[in-house]
Amino acid sequence: MGKSKPKPKTRTVRIARPPDADGVGVFCIETNGDAQFYTFLEIRCDIGGRGFAVHRLGQGELYHIRVGAPGDASCECMGFLRWDKCKHVSSLLALIKKGELPPRLS
Ligand SMILES: [Zn+2]
Repeated sequence: MGKSKPKPKTRTVRIARPPDADGVGVFCIETNGDAQFYTFLEIRCDIGGRGFAVHRLGQGELYHIRVGAPGDASCECMGFLRWDKCKHVSSLLALIKKGELPPRLS
């Protein structure tokens, strides 16, 4: 009795609004049914990988995120500073993998 299994965390990420003419789009990270929306804008990145400015809607935080080859990513959030990985990087990687982000800027 009283044995409670920890609920597995399920996280899905999807594009909520494709980038407009200015390149600004919205993606949504849903964790166990709790949706958070982020605006994103691809920014020029000359050091490998792709760069994005990501802003969580309703919050003041703006993160500059870089995604690229495994082990070659960065983000400005506390999670990444501490763990070298975060949901921002993994979400952008997932969207790129699914082909849901437009081709990289050239
Ligand atoms: Zn992050």
